[in-house]
Amino acid sequence: MAELQSVERALEALLKGVKAGDVERIDCEAAAGRVLAESVTARLDVPPADNSAMDGYALRHVDAGQWLPISQRIAAGHAPEPLAPGTCVRIFTGGEIPPGADTVVMQERVQAQDAQAHIPGDITLGDNVRRRGRDVEAGTPLLEAGTRLEAAALGHLAGQGITQVDVHRRPRVALLSTGDEIVAPSQPLAAGQIHNSNRPMLSRLIERFGAELIMREHVPDDFATTQRLLREAAECADVIVTTGGVSVGEEDHVKHALETLGQLDLWQLAMRPGKPLALGRIGQARLVGLPGNPVSCFVGAWVYLRPLMGVLLGCPRMATLPRLWARAAFTTHTQARRHYMRVRMEFTDDGIVAHAFADQNSAVLSSCLEADALAIVPEHTTLNEGERVECLWLTD
Ligand code: AMP
Ligand code: MG
Repeated sequence: MAELQSVERALEALLKGVKAGDVERIDCEAAAGRVLAESVTARLDVPPADNSAMDGYALRHVDAGQWLPISQRIAAGHAPEPLAPGTCVRIFTGGEIPPGADTVVMQERVQAQDAQAHIPGDITLGDNVRRRGRDVEAGTPLLEAGTRLEAAALGHLAGQGITQVDVHRRPRVALLSTGDEIVAPSQPLAAGQIHNSNRPMLSRLIERFGAELIMREHVPDDFATTQRLLREAAECADVIVTTGGVSVGEEDHVKHALETLGQLDLWQLAMRPGKPLALGRIGQARLVGLPGNPVSCFVGAWVYLRPLMGVLLGCPRMATLPRLWARAAFTTHTQARRHYMRVRMEFTDDGIVAHAFADQNSAVLSSCLEADALAIVPEHTTLNEGERVECLWLTD
């Protein structure tokens, strides 16, 4: 039997020579989930002027502890006049602090009557004033190249009045599911058939990992068709993802078809689930051949496709797997293969506890449904309940 290879070696082989995709300039409106190809420097102070954090009264701190005439009313969005000496101004949240004022007192602490306000004496200089540039200072780094543009980053760009950014092109992915027994969910099942679970599952993961699905085909267990569809996929895709058909059975055609079109490395991996993994290339396209079992496919997508998409997108954070440590609520042991166990995380006062699903078989997709993480039990290990275990956190 072929020697088992480590996951690390397979990942190294997969990522070798892979570079981030071309750069394109796009509207920020359409940039959600994309990865910055440029570092962005702030060009504006945020906030652009001192403003009030409260509804209340602005004044000079030295005038506190007495009745003051109310000389102005400043709502958000309206330019203030300078503060008349010895007065205070009515101000609302987000209103710009008038030149000369340095402190805001919240309205609950102020007694107002006949255009006069009584300001308490026990207030602190600078209270309730949001300083200009407190969030972002013009000229400082705002976002680094390689940042995935999620909610806060998009908000930051908008805060700077930036409307376009340079991002890496999304990797183009062709997804080929294989197998004569597999039919679309819209079809009733005849004897011997099962529905295609991998296709929607992988489609979602591939899109979640930032790539664009440009081709989805189901391939019967037939050499000529497999070869034709692989060739077509290689013409348009950066990455071809296949499921099933990579074992050593007579009906496993992906491997042979790939050998006639490009280059194949078949890996027998020291991992469970998901022992067979085909890596290869046809022309410029990379091929990742995942096993057919839905759970192996799910785990394989997280372990291999996510880092690959991370590199293609130029996003270092995605190129490494999100890990955290938890205490195992179970006991298990492994032999030659590292076990990726589906676990549910419980956040307790004493830290995070990983609960393993009872049925860890690779054909049991229900265990992935509520899994928050994959506990990684290394090769040749006995893990006892209560011991620490490293987990791959299923998040992006
Ligand atoms: P294979 O690697 O092609 O031998 O497939 C391994 C197992 O996974 C078989 O039991 C297949 O029926 C099942 N399988 C393969 N592809 C899919 C799919 N797209 N959806 C659900 N199950 C699948
Ligand atoms: Mg098959």
